[in-house]
Amino acid sequence: MKKKEILKRIFGFSSFRVGQEEIIEAVLNKNDVMAMLPTGTGKSLCYQLPGYILPGTVLIVSPLISLMQDQVEQLRMIGERKAVALNSFLSHKEKNMALQRLSTYRFIYISPEMLGSEYVIKRLQQINISLFVIDEAHCISQWGHDFRPDYLNLGSIRNKLGNPPALALTATAAKEVREDIKRYLLLSNPKEIVFSVDRPNISLVVEKLDSFAEKKERVLKLAGFFEKPGIIYFSSKRMAEETAEFLRSNGIEGVAAYHGGMEQEQRILIQQQFLYDQLNIICATSAFGMGINKNNIRFIIHFHLPGQIESYLQEIGRAGRDGEPSIAILLYNSGDELLPIQLMESELPENWQIESFFTQANSKNFQELASELNLTETQLRFLTFYFFKASNNTVENVKAIRKARQAFKFKKIQQMTNWIHAGGCRRSNVMSFFDEQLVNAQTNCCDFCEVELKFYQEKKKIDKIPVLNSWKDILMELLLERKNS
Ligand code: ADP
Ligand code: MG
Repeated sequence: MKKKEILKRIFGFSSFRVGQEEIIEAVLNKNDVMAMLPTGTGKSLCYQLPGYILPGTVLIVSPLISLMQDQVEQLRMIGERKAVALNSFLSHKEKNMALQRLSTYRFIYISPEMLGSEYVIKRLQQINISLFVIDEAHCISQWGHDFRPDYLNLGSIRNKLGNPPALALTATAAKEVREDIKRYLLLSNPKEIVFSVDRPNISLVVEKLDSFAEKKERVLKLAGFFEKPGIIYFSSKRMAEETAEFLRSNGIEGVAAYHGGMEQEQRILIQQQFLYDQLNIICATSAFGMGINKNNIRFIIHFHLPGQIESYLQEIGRAGRDGEPSIAILLYNSGDELLPIQLMESELPENWQIESFFTQANSKNFQELASELNLTETQLRFLTFYFFKASNNTVENVKAIRKARQAFKFKKIQQMTNWIHAGGCRRSNVMSFFDEQLVNAQTNCCDFCEVELKFYQEKKKIDKIPVLNSWKDILMELLLERKNS
């Protein structure tokens, strides 16, 4: 089958989106490819479609278990059963079974940690890997917004697997990050396919407010005013919950909170309700959004300051995937930069934690050590990586690495704040971080180019399906329906 035919028959799409065909062509020509396409434009298709043309297996490295599961489920929905996600979610038995049958899969999603196992590598060496995909490839760079030390091994892992052609995918990577991707993945003479980070249908607005109380009032006002659905982003779980409650108690309907501290079931439920338009507004932390396919999100409000421009772009990028006008509005109080600074500090282990970890790691269980030293998941990940994987890491070395990363992250926060205070077109300022220039001016571009908020006002109130509280309620409802019919 030809590309177009596969696109139609297997994926059910009538045409390629911008960039897809070019990337697929390069992949089919066995080039190493580094591709950057904005969030939501369909990067997965760029390796999934070739999966039906290339012989053998497409191996996809993905940083998040939920993302992998999501992709495998979506493949199942189009009738693809030869897809599997290899990660710590699988039971021992399931994992073994999958590893025995590796060669029967068309798509294997795998976590970078899993690739650390010699046994897994051995098994992978025995199958024919036609394409090595690195999703969210910016995770390889210390300068990226989501550095995953394990990604640094991917270059040598690809080597061990016989150097299959590589496809590195990312949505937002500044030039330094793109250089890192090419360098660490050991891409050979890669074809670079980079599209603009700009999302022209999303208007960019920053509002400076004088006090926290004013900011809260403003959120309430905007949440009531804007066309829905929308997402309000917070850096704190507590604030996400409190604000959801605050909005509800002030008469805004269909509001729920979502963050990593909630029960898995509750999170899935809220995500589903939002996807099916049963909720209007999600008050979320950054845990919400990656891999969510909802194309009619009309507004994104940032209640807190994101830690870097890249995260900001990822988050606002969830709006307007249908191409319709949407708005991103960031609310700023002076001093807001303190929160991302605190968060950044909590992601890195402190020097005493590094010292204790290094002296005790040989004799103690890691989980035990983590709770003794009060380590967060990110801190533990950092420490285990430098303890195990990278050779010659003395305590002093690791402290120095920590310091460099801290300085870098601090710079990124400053960049974000500078953007807020800078004059001139916000869009063109954002684009300049990625060495791009804004070519066409547009209406409702940003608050400097005059944006009309009323353009984004709610047009009509749609009848809302009542919001249910838990999956148990939903089940009950379904059972009752069945009984009554
Ligand atoms: P990304 O990884 O770039 O954020 P995804 O690969 O998750 O985006 O795709 C986002 C959505 O776009 C998915 O729902 C996918 O089915 C859809 N999509 C991808 N390619 C096309 C296409 N050519 N036509 C229509 N929809 C598409
Ligand atoms: Mg993706």
